[in-house]
Amino acid sequence: AHKVVKELKIEAVVEVNSIGCKVCRPAYRQALTQYLEQVAGRLCEDCMDRKDRNPLRVLDCKVPTCRSAVKDAPKMVDFLCEECRKHYQKLLEYLNIMGIPYVENPNLVRGLDYYTKTVFEVVSRELGITIIAGGRYDYLVEEMGGVPTPAVGFAVGVERVAMLVKELPQRQPLYMVIPLGEDTVSYALKVCELLREKGKRVELSYKRAGLKKQLELANKLKADYAVIVGEDEMKEESVSIKNLHTGEQVKLNLKELFSHVL
Ligand SMILES: [Zn+2]
Ligand SMILES: [Zn+2]
Repeated sequence: AHKVVKELKIEAVVEVNSIGCKVCRPAYRQALTQYLEQVAGRLCEDCMDRKDRNPLRVLDCKVPTCRSAVKDAPKMVDFLCEECRKHYQKLLEYLNIMGIPYVENPNLVRGLDYYTKTVFEVVSRELGITIIAGGRYDYLVEEMGGVPTPAVGFAVGVERVAMLVKELPQRQPLYMVIPLGEDTVSYALKVCELLREKGKRVELSYKRAGLKKQLELANKLKADYAVIVGEDEMKEESVSIKNLHTGEQVKLNLKELFSHVL
């Protein structure tokens, strides 16, 4: 999860917590419920309902009064059994070894009941929203009828991540093949196929117009190169290739095109 944001150069912080296991969570749940009874007057309507059914979720509530009400709530980390405590310590140790920066967030619980021990979220610094979230779910497979299989996973909020991506992974240059005149179309098609065979991104201009109009179209489509094929080019088995960023234009035969420019 951290690699996803790192590769995409998104400023984000990894928050981690442990929410214990079957052994240690019941005692915590009880302590939390008792605490929530005391601050019930400050909880929102949803949390009034949650505090009896799923008190951990109250810790997750975004309503400001609820946030302040749970500030001094008992923390799961103080209730972890021996096994969970050791597991959590190991997790933090491994994160340090791997150089993954994190902050411990004792109120991080995740909304889903099936999580055990580790839960985590990756939060965007820019927007303050969670973009990736996950954790362990050691009993889930079993509860669904499978053989006991401890597991870990996470989900990525693709729209949120897309919104935060500033720099797209390297874009492949676009070649726009421009035939001049109807007779050159078949040759232009051949050039397109040759370029595609080399793994290039290629567009063929379908505009039957003069060079100027077609170059305008190439610019509109954000092409990087115009590959111009006129009568002369067709006779010579060559192309004129124009760099649309620099305006530089050279004529190359097909062999040169593939060995030199590409
Ligand atoms: Zn435990
Ligand atoms: Zn609430």
